[in-house]
Amino acid sequence: MDYYEILGVTRSASQEDIKKAFHKLAHKYHPDKGGDEKKFKEINEAYQVLSDSKKREQYDQFGRVFDQQGPTGPGGQGFDFSWMWGNRPQQEVEFDFEEVGDIFESFFGGGARKTAKKDHKKGRDIQVDIEIPLEKVLKSSVEKINILKYAVCRRCEGSGAEPGTKTKECFSCRGAGQVQQVKKTFLGSYTTITTCPECKGEGNIPEKPCNVCRGEGRIKAEDKIEIHIPAGVDTNQVIKIEGKGDAGKKGGKPGNLFARILVKNNTNFERRGDDLFTEVQINFSQSALGDKIEMKTLEGTNILLEAPAGTESGKILRISGKGIPHFSGYGKGNLYVILKIKTPKKLTKEQKKILEQLKKEGL
Ligand SMILES: [Zn+2]
Ligand SMILES: [Zn+2]
Repeated sequence: MDYYEILGVTRSASQEDIKKAFHKLAHKYHPDKGGDEKKFKEINEAYQVLSDSKKREQYDQFGRVFDQQGPTGPGGQGFDFSWMWGNRPQQEVEFDFEEVGDIFESFFGGGARKTAKKDHKKGRDIQVDIEIPLEKVLKSSVEKINILKYAVCRRCEGSGAEPGTKTKECFSCRGAGQVQQVKKTFLGSYTTITTCPECKGEGNIPEKPCNVCRGEGRIKAEDKIEIHIPAGVDTNQVIKIEGKGDAGKKGGKPGNLFARILVKNNTNFERRGDDLFTEVQINFSQSALGDKIEMKTLEGTNILLEAPAGTESGKILRISGKGIPHFSGYGKGNLYVILKIKTPKKLTKEQKKILEQLKKEGL
């Protein structure tokens, strides 16, 4: 569910409004006061994100984001969801601040030069959608995707200079890395200092640009990326893969990859949070007398259900722990089987005779 909806605030709500809404709801649903624990957890999760301006900005852009820490060890244990509960203050999400950098430059001139210089070289973040079938969320899995993106140029190793050649002072800024521009407005003219477009703030340029990347230090290439998808993911959850976005220009920092998960609907099982719902048809005689009913779970294994004598159509059986694992790794949802009584459309002579007899008996 949407964090704003959970807290009952608008997307433009102030920090003060969010705090107020949280306090009110937390009070109402606190488990110690007999409130709904699940609801309380939701409220808490929503508040942890929306009360933090960085996490809120990220949420507004991508929805729920979970970190995948690069290509760490085997077994796909590279997840860390702890930031959602606010105990990871050192975690920083960096976005492409190129535009912000430009604004700062215009206002503060050289003061923001350092930031601007860094951001001009940083590679862009990439967003991809990954569609998975519902049964895949039962276990953690690895999806391999191919994406076309900027990769570090192998010939010059990102420097942009042809191997074996030197660099020279930028002719445009004479090595300063920035250039002055005089702008005339109706208030008068003012000087702005911007990053030198020629050397991208480096102050020097290669004597001979790399033959392969023409001096940019990176080239478009197809990259195979493994994305570890945790069990229990849901549609619109986003997995962040640090450093797997576009390579930076001239050896600059790479961007990040954000993989948005889309879970496909299943024809037999409906997901509601961590719970699964399915319908199983039984005969009238099974409903009246009770019976053992075999069904296939989402995993594809067969299980036996016990329909008690006198089962009414629409009766729901709960199979505890046979739902979807919660993405935090703790607990599992339930499987709910709705029993529907099937009315026969065609009857054999024999069946008709028996049913006529039952009719006489008042059934
Ligand atoms: Zn190159
Ligand atoms: Zn320059």
